[in-house]
Amino acid sequence: MNPDNALRRRLLLSGAAGLIAATALPGTAHARTAAVEPDIDGTAVWGARPPQAAIRTLQYRPSKIIVHHTVSANTTDFSRAQAHRHAHWVQDLHMDKNGWADTGYHFLVSRGGWITEGRHGSLGTLAGGSAFPLGTHTSGQNGYAIGIANEGAYHDGAVPTDAQWDVLVALCAYTCSRYGIPPAQIYGHKDFGDTLCPGVFHDMLPRLREEVAAARAA
Ligand SMILES: [Zn+2]
Repeated sequence: MNPDNALRRRLLLSGAAGLIAATALPGTAHARTAAVEPDIDGTAVWGARPPQAAIRTLQYRPSKIIVHHTVSANTTDFSRAQAHRHAHWVQDLHMDKNGWADTGYHFLVSRGGWITEGRHGSLGTLAGGSAFPLGTHTSGQNGYAIGIANEGAYHDGAVPTDAQWDVLVALCAYTCSRYGIPPAQIYGHKDFGDTLCPGVFHDMLPRLREEVAAARAA
């Protein structure tokens, strides 16, 4: 809807990175490997339904990130309100159609570049960096992986918006940083199953790993 909004967000992200670099104090030797924390709207912010079954928290670090797409419409509404509507749409689908406890993914990235928390507990455990809620997103990998899903459908020629891409990079960099995940351990859903998910994002994985590594080193 409003490209200015996406631009402002990109500037905020790069501005925050610059600020951290400029204010790094002597003695913070590890600051150069710490990625910038992106804005993430938690489940309370977008008004998620409570889970309909208990969610298990795994008391160890995930070892990989798996990228998905949600196969929602490729909207041109880039607003935060649309990101929240999308978060509801995914949660309703996963709880009511799939019968899962809650949203299957840990985080969602909208086409407007807004991040929402998916499964309850994902945001708090990410900040802590030593545990994560068991998700439902990739058969055989849920005990090891953070699931990040992109709003839209990318198996049919569509490409992500610049804002979506930039924020995906920032979220992956922060997740890698908090959990000590090497950027090389970022995968796509189709690496682990017979699916088209995440479409063109799978072709873009080498670039994603590269940009996440650069963001972490910045
Ligand atoms: Zn998937």
